[in-house]
Amino acid sequence: MPERKIYMDYAATTPVRPEVVEAMLPYFTERYGNPSSIHSFGQDARVAVEEARAKVASLIGARPEEIVFTSGGTESDNFAIKGVAYALRGKGDHIVTSSVEHHAVLETCKSLENEGFKVTYLPVDRYGTVDPEDVRKAITERTILVSVMHANNEVGTVQPIEEISKIAHERGTYFHTDAVQTVGHIKVDVEELGVDLLSTSAHKLYGPKGVGALYIRKGTRIAPFVHGGEQERGRRAGTENVPGIVGFGRAAELARAEYEDEARRLSELRDKLIEGLRERIDYIHLNGHPTRRLPGNVHVTVEFVEGESMLLNLDIEGIAASTGSACSSGSLEPSHVLLAMGLSHELAHGSLRFTMGRWSTEEDVERVLEVLPEVVARLRAMSPLYNVRNAYP
Ligand SMILES: *Cc1c(COP(=O)(O)O)cnc(C)c1O
Repeated sequence: MPERKIYMDYAATTPVRPEVVEAMLPYFTERYGNPSSIHSFGQDARVAVEEARAKVASLIGARPEEIVFTSGGTESDNFAIKGVAYALRGKGDHIVTSSVEHHAVLETCKSLENEGFKVTYLPVDRYGTVDPEDVRKAITERTILVSVMHANNEVGTVQPIEEISKIAHERGTYFHTDAVQTVGHIKVDVEELGVDLLSTSAHKLYGPKGVGALYIRKGTRIAPFVHGGEQERGRRAGTENVPGIVGFGRAAELARAEYEDEARRLSELRDKLIEGLRERIDYIHLNGHPTRRLPGNVHVTVEFVEGESMLLNLDIEGIAASTGSACSSGSLEPSHVLLAMGLSHELAHGSLRFTMGRWSTEEDVERVLEVLPEVVARLRAMSPLYNVRNAYP
């Protein structure tokens, strides 16, 4: 990790752990076989892929044969939703999801709408939580899938997945969850959660980018996603990303052993940062659920300042955070998540996300607590609204 700079954007991506790099390296060089080959080179790679599959399965309480490797979280979401939609086309044409999903889910649903499917986007409360009763009301005889994320990547709110999946099953429909933000960070057990399909991605848990997995409960009807060879039991064709898969397996193995202690440590840092910011900055609001939230996530709205301005000023000070106010395309549309939670465009634009992880320390938190109040004060000195507000208390 580069020192001196402070990285607080672990929800966007994480560095690859040295142990993971080490596990991957031989599969670029001397162990380069194609897992589909019969000779010893191929069998060596096959064994590595299957060992990794067992490790990923074990992290989420699944069976190895229920894991399909993909190119990441986005593909897993596409695969789950389109796969079920195409497989069950004859049975129904309705999908229920939430308005705070990742774009990988929302855009997939939109593309299905263009093909004639109907989609219900459920509202959330001010903490970003989906009401399970809304799920019950939304399901009809035509519903084939409910998809609600495990935890939100922007505001960190953890959804009541056990309740929602139960309702989906009572009404005879499949349930998918995007668990990209939770796998390897908090407890994720496919039996406890009661999910039929679950998306995960290696680069959010200290593995490499470009590899992920979709958990598919045994017996779930789903159409193949990539057509070609017989890889991944004919569900996802293409020569396996062997080094990536091996890295994912190693990252999953490490996460399984360490996530509980790490979650406890990060929750303490998170709460320290939240409290410190509240003490030092006025007109600041925490977004997302106060307790049912991801361990390393701090998401705030600071009134009378722009998220982008805070971000750029923090970056100059060597602190990398993120803002929910603009989408990745650089458009000025505020975050759909914050708008769904009822924030005005103005407040949504004044938002900032800090996400901490393995290399985050107390000193990092202290540095942010030193720098952000100064940045906010400087920006507010130029804000007519803030100055008027304080002239007339
Ligand atoms: C990062 C992320 C994705 C996308 O995963 P990639 O592996 O980057 O494609 C999907 N959903 C959530 C909630 C995410 O945080």
